[in-house]
Amino acid sequence: MPSLRELGEVEAIRRLISDRGEAAGVIVGAGDDAAVLRLDQGCDLAITTDALVEGRHYRAEWMTPAEIGARLAAANLSDLAAMAARPCWAVASMGVRAEHDADELLELQRGLRAMLGAHGATLVGGNLSGVEGREWFSLTLLGEVARGRAWTRSAARPGDRLAVTGHPGRSQAALELLHRLPERARDAGQRGLIDAWRAPEPRVGLALALATHGHVTAAIDLSDGLAGDLAKLCEASGVGAEVETGGFASDPALEMAAGALEIDVERLRFGASDDYELLLAVEPGGRETCTRVARELGVPLAFIGRLSDRPGVIEAVTGAERRPISGMGFDHFAR
Ligand SMILES: [Mg+2]
Repeated sequence: MPSLRELGEVEAIRRLISDRGEAAGVIVGAGDDAAVLRLDQGCDLAITTDALVEGRHYRAEWMTPAEIGARLAAANLSDLAAMAARPCWAVASMGVRAEHDADELLELQRGLRAMLGAHGATLVGGNLSGVEGREWFSLTLLGEVARGRAWTRSAARPGDRLAVTGHPGRSQAALELLHRLPERARDAGQRGLIDAWRAPEPRVGLALALATHGHVTAAIDLSDGLAGDLAKLCEASGVGAEVETGGFASDPALEMAAGALEIDVERLRFGASDDYELLLAVEPGGRETCTRVARELGVPLAFIGRLSDRPGVIEAVTGAERRPISGMGFDHFAR
């Protein structure tokens, strides 16, 4: 188990590269000054990037190196899913301390590659930098989408239905549990939430399947929380939204965690939470098809409301009661 200092940069990079595979569309892969890639004809290129910073997005004692790599891949895959783009290639940039165990870095890269590979993407290059303080891992992911067919945040229309995958709020619940409840005090349901947090499932397959039907008018992935990301979609599209609180599937795991943490369950559901789920605007006639496609893929999809012609007005509706839910999202630079 040599450290990077003991191994040296050249050998560390050699090991990282030799651990990577071949992939479609790669004309020149890792090991040269740049990768050379070939898009399918008739495709647009979709690009996203995201990073995990030690202490900010993860703590080494919370997850294995492979889980850190997988979560980094998932954050980027989720962004491409929100564009209905097929993930193809990625480059990773890592800021690591000289004491970092080289085998653990390889394990992190394996977790990253496995998550990318599960969704059709390959690591084709990267960069290694030495840091003194906090470590960070950044990924840039490239994907293909048929020309002019990428989903955006800006094409939703009043009257479109709002749908969300999975169970928003669970990620924040898991983080709160990790921070506040010692491991021995956690029950099976709480451990399940934390396990799911360590291995998120980006909704790439569902997005690609839904895109073939054409009913989704706009999309965003949930990385800052349902209320915050809904506000971004609404702003980009110039619409408002009414969220029916009764539209969510019941989520006993979230409710139990909310109880143990003494947090209002709606605070978790709407507030800051990087769930890597998809929030979709669906034309009114597309609901049945989207529901069927999601069911066939085994992805939970709940219809939770509609978009309105009142820009900036984003409300939760429970029976006759309405209240605003803006301002609940995550802000990296707040506080
Ligand atoms: Mg996003």
